[in-house]
Amino acid sequence: MELPFAESWKIKMIEPIRKSTRQEREQWIKEAHYNTFQLAADKVYIDLITDSGTGSMSQAQWAGMMMGDESYAGASSFFNLKNMIAKLTGFEYVIPTHQGRAAENVLFSYLVKEGNVCPGNSHFDTTKGHIESRKAIALDCTIDEAKDTQLEIPFKGNVDPIKLEQALKDHKGNIPFIIITITNNTAGGQPVSMKNLREVSALSKKYDVPVLFDSARFAENAYFIKTREEGYANKTIKEIVKEMFSYADGMTMSAKKDAIVNMGGFIATRKQDWFDGAKNFCIIMEGYLTYGGMNGRDMNALAIGLDENTEFEMLETRIKQVEYLAMKLDEYGVAYQRPAGGHAIFVDAAKVLTHVPKEQFPAQTLTVELYLEAGIRGCEIGYILADRDPITRENRFGGLDFLRLAIPRRVYTNNHMDVIAAALKNVKDRAEQITKGYTIEWEAPLMRHFTVKLEKAK
Ligand SMILES: *Cc1c(COP(=O)(O)O)cnc(C)c1O
Repeated sequence: MELPFAESWKIKMIEPIRKSTRQEREQWIKEAHYNTFQLAADKVYIDLITDSGTGSMSQAQWAGMMMGDESYAGASSFFNLKNMIAKLTGFEYVIPTHQGRAAENVLFSYLVKEGNVCPGNSHFDTTKGHIESRKAIALDCTIDEAKDTQLEIPFKGNVDPIKLEQALKDHKGNIPFIIITITNNTAGGQPVSMKNLREVSALSKKYDVPVLFDSARFAENAYFIKTREEGYANKTIKEIVKEMFSYADGMTMSAKKDAIVNMGGFIATRKQDWFDGAKNFCIIMEGYLTYGGMNGRDMNALAIGLDENTEFEMLETRIKQVEYLAMKLDEYGVAYQRPAGGHAIFVDAAKVLTHVPKEQFPAQTLTVELYLEAGIRGCEIGYILADRDPITRENRFGGLDFLRLAIPRRVYTNNHMDVIAAALKNVKDRAEQITKGYTIEWEAPLMRHFTVKLEKAK
């Protein structure tokens, strides 16, 4: 008999989590104004609000913490980090920052000017924010197939080379970089193929525009290339990663994702002019160049995390867990964005809560119902997140309405996945009784989802 799949690690340290009663949860979610961001974490049993900074570090990472060099300038921890990044990516210039958006802030302060256009595949919200706040345009050139939630294609995060080339022609001389997000977070953690990266690189050379990778989940992307793309099955993750970055001029990184640290990020590049330009902004915004926004101990843990999480077994364990949850949801007929992405499952709320009108926010209603059912905290990536149209001030109901279940790395077991799937099934089974959703009691003018106050629809 073939042996079943199991995790490539065992557990040495545990953190207790607490169940609660439905009655308690009804009280708590009401006090949180039906917004899961407003819940205290100790009121949550299984926390799927994000996979960012929520992973478990390894024994080697914790050992690295003890060996941190906290020297202000030239700490050995910085060189450990810089050498690891150079080894994995080929980028020789490295600037540490306190997280991914800080890397964007520092680099874009140098690169992005008013009126610029930055084409790419579905820019992440902070990336978009850092482009738009400089009065530049984040132009989305993702393939159209990404919008069809039920279509199963292997690389649904790809950029459309035809749209990209058009953008490069239309905005010639006004494009500081092409930005490729790997994996494509906004499209549901969907990967970008090596072929697509190669096409982007060819266009970048043809039009003489550099390429930047927003790299938060580059290792998960490499896993998908290995397992889905022809010609890569026998390559190691590290070989694939090296080839991926050969098609870029630089990267910004949120290390809270694939480097499995709780806080951290960096800029890395082969372009000396980017490095020189970004340096001064790092010093005023983050800190001196050999620590940026980080402690020495945290740079050590980050370097080790990068090394460990670019090994196949580590990624296989992670992605197979997300797939396991997806398989359970298939069994129970719960619809989600297909195929399952690397870091999360996006449940298609309209297909589960069929009786809640869109004006009453079905995905938010599903998020609340899942919490009430089992103390599981997801988050809405839907109509509330989409905010209002800046001109008409109407809610934007044109996009997709998801409940996102982000899976932290190395934190929960498949027993927890069973609980999540069963809880969703229970909610789905009583969907006909759930006819009312929520309406907005109070909202902030921008980024309303973090603080919105909701009330039960009358
Ligand atoms: C998380 C993330 C960021 C921002 O990083 P932070 O560490 O949260 O500041 C940028 N891009 C992508 C694709 C991300 O997933």
